Amino acid sequence: MENVIIIGTGCAGYTAAIYVARANLTPLMLSGTQPGGQLTTTTEVENFPGFPEGIMGPEMMMNMQKQAEKFGTRIQYASVESIAKDDDGNFSVKLGGGETLRSKTVIIATGAAPRHLGLPNEKDLIGRGLTSCATCDGAFYRDVPVAVIGGGDSACEEAGFLTRFASKVYLIHRRDELRASKIMAERALANPKIEPVWNSGVEEYLTNEKGEMRAVKLKNLVDGSESELAVDCVFVAIGHVPNSGFVSGLVDLDENGYILQVPGRTATKTPGLFAAGDVADHYYRQAITAAGQGCAAALEAERYLTEHE
Ligand code: NAP
Repeated sequence: MENVIIIGTGCAGYTAAIYVARANLTPLMLSGTQPGGQLTTTTEVENFPGFPEGIMGPEMMMNMQKQAEKFGTRIQYASVESIAKDDDGNFSVKLGGGETLRSKTVIIATGAAPRHLGLPNEKDLIGRGLTSCATCDGAFYRDVPVAVIGGGDSACEEAGFLTRFASKVYLIHRRDELRASKIMAERALANPKIEPVWNSGVEEYLTNEKGEMRAVKLKNLVDGSESELAVDCVFVAIGHVPNSGFVSGLVDLDENGYILQVPGRTATKTPGLFAAGDVADHYYRQAITAAGQGCAAALEAERYLTEHE
């Protein structure tokens, strides 16, 4: 029987692990399908306090892992299929491979996954000119035009990163104003290699004879006109979907699938089950706020265990 199982190895999960481990409760972390979480797919993190020169996302996550392991955290590479609360008040956590683990408390820190447009040939194109990760795939598209879809910080960041490789980066946004923070928006719009394509929606991904991306069909959302834009790769940066599908029943979800916490806390409606980070936060979604929630969830789990000893 574990004391604390932490599901997810992003900022929230690792911070929870550091706190739980330092309380001598030897947490077990379950990595999920994307070990290290979303920051492993980002470039430089400039806004996490303590790093005045910035730090690369993957390096930051490796540091967090080292720090968690230093205090006795164990990490198992597994994805969770379901969680159940048993009659004795403890939890059964069923893994993808069929194994079931038991724990007195569970912290869900599974984050969120990139959203896609939902176009018919999307799945076939992933890895053939359609991706959500500029850091992972940008270098494959040298000296060719590419597009980023979205108008938030992610879209601006991805677009900026891609200018290192691509001949041109089209920033396709459905409105005529970016949602991104002022500094990120200004940086993107000032970059001569980035060309905004305003008020436009992608209607279709168009492929070549090899089934790879060759262009997007655009619709101008103001006048309804249609056009084709030749690009070798499309980077989709239109937000995220929380990874909360496996917890049904034990928690309430909002209309977008984010786990509802007890207001001001990380507790959920099920005693002993806590949620931290992007899986429960549609509002801030920052590395530092996820880390803060991870800390809070660890403290709550620790108190829960003390009260139930
Ligand atoms: P976001 O802020 O939610 O922006 C999503 C963008 O995608 C919006 O511009 C939205 O358009 C557009 N969009 C959503 N659904 C769409 C659809 N179906 N079709 C076309 N466009 C669609 O998401 P994000 O950029 O991933 O950022 C998430 C959070 O992470 C934010 O809090 C952000 O500040 C933070 N972040 C920070 C950094 C950094 O500081 N280094 C980097 C990345 C992200 P509308 O604007 O019209 O709604």
